[in-house]
Amino acid sequence: MHDVLVVGGGPAGAATAYWLAEAGHDVVVVERKTFPREKTCGDGLTPRAVKQLADMGLEDAIARDHLRIDGLRAIAHGITIEMPWPEHPVYPSHGYVVRRRDLDQLVAEQAVKAGATLWQGTEALAPILDRGLVAGATVRRVGATEEVEARYVVIADGANSRFGRSLGTARDRTYPQGMAIRTYYESPLHDDPWIESALDVRDRNGAALPGYGWIFPVGDGTINVGIGLLSTFRDWKSVNTSHLMAEWAATAPARWGIDPDRPLAPPTGGRLPMAGSVSPKSGPTFLVVGDASGAINPFNGEGIDYAYETGRLAADVLDEALTTGNGMALQRYTETLDREFRLYYKVARLFVQLIGYPALMRELTRVGMQSQSLMEWVLRIMANLLRPDELGPAEAAYKMVAAIARVLPEPSAAS
Ligand SMILES: Cc1cc2nc3c(=O)[nH]c(=O)nc-3n(C[C@H](O)[C@H](O)[C@H](O)COP(=O)(O)OP(=O)(O)OC[C@H]3O[C@@H](n4cnc5c(N)ncnc54)[C@H](O)[C@@H]3O)c2cc1C
Repeated sequence: MHDVLVVGGGPAGAATAYWLAEAGHDVVVVERKTFPREKTCGDGLTPRAVKQLADMGLEDAIARDHLRIDGLRAIAHGITIEMPWPEHPVYPSHGYVVRRRDLDQLVAEQAVKAGATLWQGTEALAPILDRGLVAGATVRRVGATEEVEARYVVIADGANSRFGRSLGTARDRTYPQGMAIRTYYESPLHDDPWIESALDVRDRNGAALPGYGWIFPVGDGTINVGIGLLSTFRDWKSVNTSHLMAEWAATAPARWGIDPDRPLAPPTGGRLPMAGSVSPKSGPTFLVVGDASGAINPFNGEGIDYAYETGRLAADVLDEALTTGNGMALQRYTETLDREFRLYYKVARLFVQLIGYPALMRELTRVGMQSQSLMEWVLRIMANLLRPDELGPAEAAYKMVAAIARVLPEPSAAS
Protein backbone atom coordinates (compact mmCIF):
# COMPACT_ATOMS: atom_id res chain seq x y z
CA MET A 1 0.00 0.00 0.00
CA HIS A 2 1.55 3.31 -1.13
CA ASP A 3 0.89 6.67 0.48
CA VAL A 4 -0.16 8.31 -2.78
CA LEU A 5 -0.81 7.18 -6.36
CA VAL A 6 -0.59 9.97 -8.96
CA VAL A 7 -2.34 9.35 -12.29
CA GLY A 8 -0.44 11.25 -15.01
CA GLY A 9 3.20 12.40 -15.12
CA GLY A 10 2.77 15.81 -16.82
CA PRO A 11 3.46 19.11 -15.01
CA ALA A 12 0.67 18.66 -12.45
CA GLY A 13 1.44 15.02 -11.60
CA ALA A 14 5.22 15.47 -11.57
CA ALA A 15 5.02 18.55 -9.31
CA THR A 16 2.65 16.77 -6.92
CA ALA A 17 5.05 13.81 -6.77
CA TYR A 18 8.11 16.03 -6.34
CA TRP A 19 6.67 17.87 -3.32
CA LEU A 20 5.29 14.69 -1.73
CA ALA A 21 8.61 12.88 -2.16
CA GLU A 22 10.46 15.90 -0.75
CA ALA A 23 8.24 15.63 2.32
CA GLY A 24 9.28 11.97 2.67
CA HIS A 25 6.16 10.19 1.45
CA ASP A 26 5.92 7.05 -0.66
CA VAL A 27 4.47 8.25 -3.96
CA VAL A 28 4.03 6.36 -7.25
CA VAL A 29 3.33 8.16 -10.52
CA VAL A 30 1.85 6.22 -13.43
CA GLU A 31 2.36 7.82 -16.85
CA ARG A 32 0.74 6.29 -19.91
CA LYS A 33 3.47 7.43 -22.27
CA THR A 34 7.22 7.02 -22.13
CA PHE A 35 9.49 10.08 -21.76
CA PRO A 36 10.58 11.93 -23.77
CA ARG A 37 7.01 12.34 -25.03
CA GLU A 38 5.43 15.13 -27.08
CA LYS A 39 2.63 17.24 -25.61
CA THR A 40 0.80 19.77 -27.77
CA CYS A 41 1.63 23.15 -26.23
CA GLY A 42 2.98 26.65 -26.93
CA ASP A 43 5.97 25.76 -24.72
CA GLY A 44 5.89 29.22 -23.09
CA LEU A 45 6.92 29.60 -19.44
CA THR A 46 6.03 32.85 -17.66
CA PRO A 47 7.81 34.20 -14.55
CA ARG A 48 5.24 32.41 -12.35
CA ALA A 49 6.20 29.07 -13.92
CA VAL A 50 9.91 29.90 -13.62
CA LYS A 51 9.45 30.41 -9.88
CA GLN A 52 7.90 26.96 -9.51
CA LEU A 53 10.70 25.37 -11.52
CA ALA A 54 13.32 27.23 -9.48
CA ASP A 55 11.65 26.04 -6.27
CA MET A 56 11.96 22.46 -7.56
CA GLY A 57 15.68 23.07 -8.11
CA LEU A 58 15.47 23.15 -11.89
CA GLU A 59 16.26 26.67 -12.98
CA ASP A 60 19.98 26.11 -13.57
CA ALA A 61 19.27 23.13 -15.83
CA ILE A 62 16.70 25.11 -17.77
CA ALA A 63 18.85 28.24 -18.05
CA ARG A 64 21.75 26.14 -19.35
CA ASP A 65 19.93 24.51 -22.23
CA HIS A 66 16.93 26.66 -23.11
CA LEU A 67 15.99 30.07 -24.42
CA ARG A 68 15.47 32.79 -21.83
CA ILE A 69 12.68 35.25 -22.62
CA ASP A 70 12.77 38.94 -21.67
CA GLY A 71 9.12 39.75 -22.29
CA LEU A 72 6.14 39.87 -24.59
CA ARG A 73 5.85 41.63 -27.91
CA ALA A 74 2.21 42.43 -28.73
CA ILE A 75 1.16 43.26 -32.28
CA ALA A 76 -2.21 44.69 -33.32
CA HIS A 77 -3.55 47.22 -35.82
CA GLY A 78 -0.07 47.71 -37.29
CA ILE A 79 1.39 48.71 -33.90
CA THR A 80 4.08 46.73 -32.07
CA ILE A 81 4.72 47.06 -28.34
CA GLU A 82 7.52 45.29 -26.48
CA MET A 83 6.84 44.75 -22.79
CA PRO A 84 9.58 43.35 -20.58
CA TRP A 85 8.37 40.96 -17.87
CA PRO A 86 7.62 43.25 -14.92
CA GLU A 87 9.63 43.61 -11.72
CA HIS A 88 8.07 41.65 -8.89
CA PRO A 89 9.13 40.89 -5.31
CA VAL A 90 8.35 37.15 -5.65
CA TYR A 91 8.61 36.27 -9.33
CA PRO A 92 11.65 36.67 -11.59
CA SER A 93 11.59 39.11 -14.52
CA HIS A 94 12.19 36.48 -17.17
CA GLY A 95 10.56 33.47 -18.72
CA TYR A 96 11.72 30.61 -20.97
CA VAL A 97 10.51 28.62 -23.94
CA VAL A 98 11.10 24.90 -23.43
CA ARG A 99 9.66 22.17 -25.60
CA ARG A 100 7.37 19.99 -23.52
CA ARG A 101 9.23 16.92 -24.73
CA ASP A 102 12.21 18.20 -22.70
CA LEU A 103 10.44 20.06 -19.89
CA ASP A 104 8.14 17.29 -18.72
CA GLN A 105 10.93 14.71 -18.67
CA LEU A 106 13.10 17.07 -16.63
CA VAL A 107 10.44 17.64 -13.96
CA ALA A 108 9.45 13.96 -13.81
CA GLU A 109 13.13 13.02 -13.34
CA GLN A 110 13.44 15.60 -10.59
CA ALA A 111 10.50 13.98 -8.78
CA VAL A 112 12.32 10.63 -9.06
CA LYS A 113 15.54 12.19 -7.69
CA ALA A 114 13.50 13.44 -4.74
CA GLY A 115 12.38 9.85 -4.10
CA ALA A 116 9.19 9.34 -6.13
CA THR A 117 8.62 6.15 -8.12
CA LEU A 118 7.74 6.72 -11.79
CA TRP A 119 6.19 3.97 -13.87
CA GLN A 120 6.24 5.03 -17.50
CA GLY A 121 4.28 3.25 -20.20
CA THR A 122 1.70 2.56 -17.49
CA GLU A 123 -1.95 3.49 -17.92
CA ALA A 124 -4.41 3.83 -15.07
CA LEU A 125 -7.50 2.01 -16.31
CA ALA A 126 -10.01 2.34 -13.48
CA PRO A 127 -10.14 3.31 -9.83
CA ILE A 128 -10.11 0.65 -7.11
CA LEU A 129 -12.96 1.31 -4.71
CA ASP A 130 -12.93 0.18 -1.10
CA ARG A 131 -16.25 0.69 0.71
CA GLY A 132 -17.06 3.43 -1.76
CA LEU A 133 -13.73 5.24 -1.36
CA VAL A 134 -10.96 5.43 -3.96
CA ALA A 135 -8.07 3.28 -2.80
CA GLY A 136 -5.79 3.07 -5.87
CA ALA A 137 -6.14 2.06 -9.49
CA THR A 138 -6.02 -0.88 -11.79
CA VAL A 139 -3.17 -0.20 -14.21
CA ARG A 140 -1.86 -1.73 -17.43
CA ARG A 141 1.89 -2.07 -17.20
CA VAL A 142 4.11 -3.90 -19.70
CA GLY A 143 1.04 -5.53 -21.19
CA ALA A 144 -0.22 -6.93 -17.88
CA THR A 145 -2.92 -5.62 -15.60
CA GLU A 146 -2.19 -5.07 -11.92
CA GLU A 147 -3.63 -3.28 -8.92
CA VAL A 148 -1.82 -0.37 -7.28
CA GLU A 149 -3.18 0.37 -3.83
CA ALA A 150 -2.71 3.74 -2.17
CA ARG A 151 -4.16 5.72 0.73
CA TYR A 152 -4.77 8.69 -1.54
CA VAL A 153 -5.04 9.21 -5.31
CA VAL A 154 -4.18 12.37 -7.25
CA ILE A 155 -5.83 12.85 -10.61
CA ALA A 156 -3.40 14.60 -12.97
CA ASP A 157 -4.46 13.09 -16.29
CA GLY A 158 -4.84 16.32 -18.28
CA ALA A 159 -7.60 18.12 -20.16
CA ASN A 160 -9.64 15.07 -21.18
CA SER A 161 -9.28 13.48 -17.72
CA ARG A 162 -10.91 10.15 -18.40
CA PHE A 163 -9.82 8.83 -15.00
CA GLY A 164 -11.28 11.92 -13.33
CA ARG A 165 -14.56 11.50 -15.18
CA SER A 166 -14.81 7.92 -13.94
CA LEU A 167 -14.80 9.36 -10.41
CA GLY A 168 -17.52 11.84 -11.25
CA THR A 169 -15.63 15.02 -12.14
CA ALA A 170 -17.35 17.21 -14.73
CA ARG A 171 -16.64 20.51 -16.48
CA ASP A 172 -19.17 23.27 -15.81
CA ARG A 173 -20.34 24.20 -19.31
CA THR A 174 -21.23 27.73 -18.29
CA TYR A 175 -17.49 28.39 -17.93
CA PRO A 176 -15.46 29.44 -20.97
CA GLN A 177 -12.94 27.06 -22.45
CA GLY A 178 -10.15 27.49 -24.97
CA MET A 179 -9.06 25.65 -28.07
CA ALA A 180 -5.61 26.00 -29.64
CA ILE A 181 -3.45 24.49 -32.37
CA ARG A 182 0.26 24.72 -33.03
CA THR A 183 3.21 23.47 -35.03
CA TYR A 184 6.91 24.28 -35.46
CA TYR A 185 8.80 26.00 -38.29
CA GLU A 186 12.44 26.71 -38.92
CA SER A 187 13.22 30.40 -38.46
CA PRO A 188 16.23 32.71 -38.57
CA LEU A 189 14.76 34.41 -35.46
CA HIS A 190 14.61 31.17 -33.46
CA ASP A 191 16.62 32.73 -30.61
CA ASP A 192 14.82 36.06 -30.36
CA PRO A 193 14.40 36.73 -26.61
CA TRP A 194 10.75 37.85 -26.96
CA ILE A 195 7.60 35.81 -27.23
CA GLU A 196 5.17 37.38 -29.67
CA SER A 197 1.41 37.62 -29.65
CA ALA A 198 -0.81 38.88 -32.47
CA LEU A 199 -4.10 40.29 -31.19
CA ASP A 200 -5.79 40.83 -34.57
CA VAL A 201 -5.17 37.89 -36.86
CA ARG A 202 -6.41 38.18 -40.44
CA ASP A 203 -6.69 35.71 -43.26
CA ARG A 204 -5.00 36.10 -46.64
CA ASN A 205 -7.90 38.26 -47.86
CA GLY A 206 -7.62 40.61 -44.89
CA ALA A 207 -10.75 39.33 -43.12
CA ALA A 208 -10.53 39.29 -39.31
CA LEU A 209 -10.23 35.82 -37.73
CA PRO A 210 -11.30 34.90 -34.22
CA GLY A 211 -8.35 34.10 -31.97
CA TYR A 212 -4.85 35.16 -30.99
CA GLY A 213 -1.78 34.07 -32.86
CA TRP A 214 1.51 33.38 -31.12
CA ILE A 215 5.10 32.88 -32.15
CA PHE A 216 7.37 31.55 -29.44
CA PRO A 217 11.05 31.15 -30.37
CA VAL A 218 12.47 27.85 -29.13
CA GLY A 219 16.18 28.62 -29.54
CA ASP A 220 17.02 25.37 -31.35
CA GLY A 221 16.55 26.62 -34.91
CA THR A 222 12.78 26.42 -34.62
CA ILE A 223 9.80 28.50 -33.52
CA ASN A 224 6.48 27.37 -32.03
CA VAL A 225 3.65 28.94 -34.03
CA GLY A 226 0.05 28.60 -32.95
CA ILE A 227 -3.35 30.18 -32.63
CA GLY A 228 -5.95 29.89 -29.90
CA LEU A 229 -9.50 31.02 -29.33
CA LEU A 230 -12.09 31.08 -26.59
CA SER A 231 -15.56 29.62 -26.44
CA THR A 232 -16.89 33.16 -25.91
CA PHE A 233 -15.79 34.07 -29.46
CA ARG A 234 -18.08 34.10 -32.44
CA ASP A 235 -17.96 30.99 -34.65
CA TRP A 236 -16.50 28.96 -31.75
CA LYS A 237 -18.53 25.87 -32.52
CA SER A 238 -17.97 25.86 -36.27
CA VAL A 239 -14.40 27.13 -36.42
CA ASN A 240 -11.89 24.95 -38.23
CA THR A 241 -8.63 25.30 -36.33
CA SER A 242 -6.54 23.77 -39.14
CA HIS A 243 -7.81 26.54 -41.41
CA LEU A 244 -7.01 29.18 -38.76
CA MET A 245 -3.52 27.75 -38.39
CA ALA A 246 -2.90 27.75 -42.14
CA GLU A 247 -4.04 31.39 -42.47
CA TRP A 248 -2.01 32.52 -39.47
CA ALA A 249 1.15 30.83 -40.74
CA ALA A 250 0.62 32.46 -44.14
CA THR A 251 0.07 35.97 -42.75
CA ALA A 252 2.50 36.01 -39.77
CA PRO A 253 5.13 38.80 -39.82
CA ALA A 254 7.59 38.19 -42.67
CA ARG A 255 10.71 38.67 -40.53
CA TRP A 256 10.13 35.27 -38.90
CA GLY A 257 10.84 33.73 -42.31
CA ILE A 258 8.07 31.13 -41.99
CA ASP A 259 7.58 28.91 -45.02
CA PRO A 260 3.88 28.08 -44.48
CA ASP A 261 4.17 25.02 -46.70
CA ARG A 262 6.91 23.48 -44.58
CA PRO A 263 5.80 22.95 -40.98
CA LEU A 264 8.22 20.62 -39.21
CA ALA A 265 5.32 18.43 -38.05
CA PRO A 266 1.60 18.30 -38.79
CA PRO A 267 -0.20 20.91 -36.62
CA THR A 268 -1.88 19.44 -33.54
CA GLY A 269 -4.40 21.02 -31.21
CA GLY A 270 -6.18 20.60 -27.93
CA ARG A 271 -8.69 22.00 -25.49
CA LEU A 272 -7.88 24.31 -22.62
CA PRO A 273 -10.21 23.81 -19.62
CA MET A 274 -9.98 27.02 -17.59
CA ALA A 275 -10.87 29.11 -14.56
CA GLY A 276 -11.29 26.10 -12.27
CA SER A 277 -14.19 24.84 -14.37
CA VAL A 278 -13.99 21.17 -13.28
CA SER A 279 -15.58 19.92 -10.05
CA PRO A 280 -15.37 18.35 -7.60
CA LYS A 281 -11.68 19.05 -7.00
CA SER A 282 -11.50 16.70 -4.08
CA GLY A 283 -13.16 13.67 -2.56
CA PRO A 284 -12.55 11.91 0.76
CA THR A 285 -9.45 10.16 -0.64
CA PHE A 286 -8.65 11.94 -3.91
CA LEU A 287 -7.59 15.34 -5.24
CA VAL A 288 -7.68 16.76 -8.78
CA VAL A 289 -4.84 18.92 -10.14
CA GLY A 290 -3.78 20.78 -13.31
CA ASP A 291 -5.87 20.59 -16.48
CA ALA A 292 -7.90 17.75 -14.96
CA SER A 293 -9.25 20.40 -12.57
CA GLY A 294 -9.61 23.05 -15.31
CA ALA A 295 -6.80 25.15 -13.81
CA ILE A 296 -5.75 27.16 -16.91
CA ASN A 297 -5.66 30.97 -16.65
CA PRO A 298 -8.37 32.31 -19.04
CA PHE A 299 -6.52 35.60 -19.51
CA ASN A 300 -3.59 34.06 -21.37
CA GLY A 301 -4.13 30.30 -21.80
CA GLU A 302 -1.26 29.53 -19.44
CA GLY A 303 -1.59 26.14 -17.80
CA ILE A 304 1.88 24.81 -16.98
CA ASP A 305 2.35 27.09 -14.00
CA TYR A 306 -1.13 26.38 -12.67
CA ALA A 307 -0.46 22.67 -13.02
CA TYR A 308 2.70 23.08 -10.92
CA GLU A 309 0.93 25.31 -8.39
CA THR A 310 -2.15 23.11 -7.93
CA GLY A 311 0.14 20.06 -7.67
CA ARG A 312 2.12 21.76 -4.94
CA LEU A 313 -1.00 22.79 -3.03
CA ALA A 314 -2.34 19.24 -3.31
CA ALA A 315 0.96 17.84 -1.99
CA ASP A 316 0.72 20.22 0.92
CA VAL A 317 -2.70 19.00 2.13
CA LEU A 318 -1.76 15.36 1.47
CA ASP A 319 1.36 15.84 3.58
CA GLU A 320 -0.85 17.07 6.40
CA ALA A 321 -3.28 14.16 5.98
CA LEU A 322 -0.44 11.63 5.96
CA THR A 323 1.47 13.08 8.90
CA THR A 324 -1.57 13.62 11.11
CA GLY A 325 -3.44 10.53 9.95
CA ASN A 326 -6.49 12.72 9.42
CA GLY A 327 -7.94 12.57 5.91
CA MET A 328 -10.17 15.56 6.66
CA ALA A 329 -7.17 17.69 5.63
CA LEU A 330 -8.14 17.01 1.99
CA GLN A 331 -11.17 19.23 2.41
CA ARG A 332 -8.80 22.16 2.79
CA TYR A 333 -7.68 21.77 -0.84
CA THR A 334 -10.77 23.31 -2.46
CA GLU A 335 -10.75 26.14 0.07
CA THR A 336 -7.08 26.83 -0.67
CA LEU A 337 -7.73 26.89 -4.41
CA ASP A 338 -10.64 29.27 -3.88
CA ARG A 339 -8.52 31.57 -1.76
CA GLU A 340 -5.68 31.59 -4.30
CA PHE A 341 -7.54 31.77 -7.58
CA ARG A 342 -11.32 32.16 -7.32
CA LEU A 343 -11.64 35.95 -7.53
CA TYR A 344 -8.89 36.27 -10.13
CA TYR A 345 -10.60 33.66 -12.27
CA LYS A 346 -13.95 35.38 -11.88
CA VAL A 347 -12.45 38.62 -13.17
CA ALA A 348 -10.86 36.66 -16.02
CA ARG A 349 -14.21 35.09 -16.92
CA LEU A 350 -15.84 38.51 -17.08
CA PHE A 351 -12.98 39.68 -19.28
CA VAL A 352 -13.24 36.79 -21.74
CA GLN A 353 -16.97 37.30 -21.94
CA LEU A 354 -16.46 40.95 -22.89
CA ILE A 355 -13.85 40.25 -25.53
CA GLY A 356 -16.22 37.74 -27.10
CA TYR A 357 -17.85 40.79 -28.72
CA PRO A 358 -15.62 41.42 -31.76
CA ALA A 359 -16.35 45.18 -31.90
CA LEU A 360 -15.50 45.60 -28.22
CA MET A 361 -12.34 43.51 -28.56
CA ARG A 362 -11.27 45.62 -31.55
CA GLU A 363 -11.90 48.83 -29.63
CA LEU A 364 -10.06 47.58 -26.52
CA THR A 365 -6.97 46.56 -28.48
CA ARG A 366 -7.08 49.77 -30.53
CA VAL A 367 -7.12 51.91 -27.37
CA GLY A 368 -4.66 49.66 -25.51
CA MET A 369 -2.11 49.65 -28.30
CA GLN A 370 -1.88 53.46 -28.14
CA SER A 371 -0.22 53.27 -24.75
CA GLN A 372 2.87 51.32 -23.70
CA SER A 373 2.14 51.81 -19.99
CA LEU A 374 -1.49 50.72 -20.32
CA MET A 375 -0.37 47.53 -22.08
CA GLU A 376 2.22 46.93 -19.35
CA TRP A 377 -0.53 47.03 -16.70
CA VAL A 378 -2.59 44.66 -18.83
CA LEU A 379 0.35 42.24 -19.02
CA ARG A 380 0.79 42.39 -15.25
CA ILE A 381 -2.88 41.49 -14.76
CA MET A 382 -3.07 38.86 -17.49
CA ALA A 383 0.09 37.03 -16.41
CA ASN A 384 -1.06 37.16 -12.76
CA LEU A 385 1.98 39.18 -11.70
CA LEU A 386 0.27 41.81 -9.55
CA ARG A 387 2.38 42.97 -6.63
CA PRO A 388 1.01 42.10 -3.22
CA ASP A 389 3.04 44.79 -1.47
CA GLU A 390 2.39 47.99 -3.36
CA LEU A 391 -0.46 49.57 -5.22
CA GLY A 392 0.69 50.52 -8.72
CA PRO A 393 -1.71 51.43 -11.55
CA ALA A 394 -2.21 47.78 -12.58
CA GLU A 395 -2.99 46.72 -9.00
CA ALA A 396 -5.38 49.68 -8.61
CA ALA A 397 -7.20 48.89 -11.85
CA TYR A 398 -7.45 45.21 -10.94
CA LYS A 399 -8.65 46.00 -7.42
CA MET A 400 -11.43 48.16 -8.80
CA VAL A 401 -12.60 45.50 -11.27
CA ALA A 402 -12.27 42.76 -8.65
CA ALA A 403 -14.43 44.73 -6.22
CA ILE A 404 -17.15 44.84 -8.88
CA ALA A 405 -16.63 41.17 -9.81
CA ARG A 406 -16.99 40.12 -6.17
CA VAL A 407 -20.61 41.34 -6.06
CA LEU A 408 -21.64 40.29 -9.56
CA PRO A 409 -23.31 36.91 -10.13
CA GLU A 410 -21.11 34.20 -11.64
CA PRO A 411 -20.56 35.00 -15.34
CA SER A 412 -22.01 32.44 -17.69
CA ALA A 413 -20.73 31.62 -21.16
CA ALA A 414 -22.20 28.35 -22.36
CA SER A 415 -20.00 26.28 -24.67
C1 LIG B 1 -2.12 24.19 -28.24
C2 LIG B 1 -1.85 24.46 -26.79
C3 LIG B 1 -0.92 25.44 -26.43
C4 LIG B 1 -0.64 25.69 -25.09
N1 LIG B 1 0.34 26.60 -24.77
C5 LIG B 1 0.70 26.80 -23.48
C6 LIG B 1 1.81 27.64 -23.16
O1 LIG B 1 2.51 28.17 -24.03
N2 LIG B 1 2.11 27.81 -21.84
C7 LIG B 1 1.39 27.22 -20.84
O2 LIG B 1 1.70 27.43 -19.67
N3 LIG B 1 0.36 26.39 -21.13
C8 LIG B 1 0.00 26.15 -22.42
N4 LIG B 1 -1.01 25.26 -22.72
C9 LIG B 1 -1.69 24.55 -21.60
C10 LIG B 1 -0.80 23.42 -21.07
O3 LIG B 1 -0.39 22.59 -22.13
C11 LIG B 1 -1.55 22.59 -20.02
O4 LIG B 1 -2.21 23.46 -19.13
C12 LIG B 1 -0.61 21.66 -19.22
O5 LIG B 1 -0.05 20.68 -20.04
C13 LIG B 1 -1.35 21.00 -18.05
O6 LIG B 1 -0.54 20.05 -17.41
P1 LIG B 1 -1.19 18.73 -16.76
O7 LIG B 1 -0.08 18.02 -16.06
O8 LIG B 1 -2.40 19.10 -16.00
O9 LIG B 1 -1.72 17.88 -18.00
P2 LIG B 1 -0.89 17.20 -19.21
O10 LIG B 1 0.28 18.04 -19.55
O11 LIG B 1 -1.88 16.91 -20.26
O12 LIG B 1 -0.35 15.86 -18.59
C14 LIG B 1 -1.23 14.77 -18.32
C15 LIG B 1 -0.42 13.49 -18.39
O13 LIG B 1 -1.23 12.40 -17.95
C16 LIG B 1 -0.99 11.27 -18.79
N5 LIG B 1 -2.19 10.42 -18.70
C17 LIG B 1 -3.44 10.72 -19.14
N6 LIG B 1 -4.30 9.71 -18.82
C18 LIG B 1 -3.56 8.78 -18.14
C19 LIG B 1 -3.88 7.53 -17.55
N7 LIG B 1 -5.13 7.04 -17.56
N8 LIG B 1 -2.88 6.83 -16.96
C20 LIG B 1 -1.62 7.31 -16.93
N9 LIG B 1 -1.26 8.50 -17.48
C21 LIG B 1 -2.22 9.23 -18.07
C22 LIG B 1 -0.75 11.88 -20.17
O14 LIG B 1 -0.01 11.00 -20.99
C23 LIG B 1 0.05 13.15 -19.80
O15 LIG B 1 1.44 12.93 -19.80
C24 LIG B 1 -1.33 24.98 -24.06
C25 LIG B 1 -2.27 24.01 -24.41
C26 LIG B 1 -2.54 23.75 -25.76
C27 LIG B 1 -3.54 22.69 -26.12
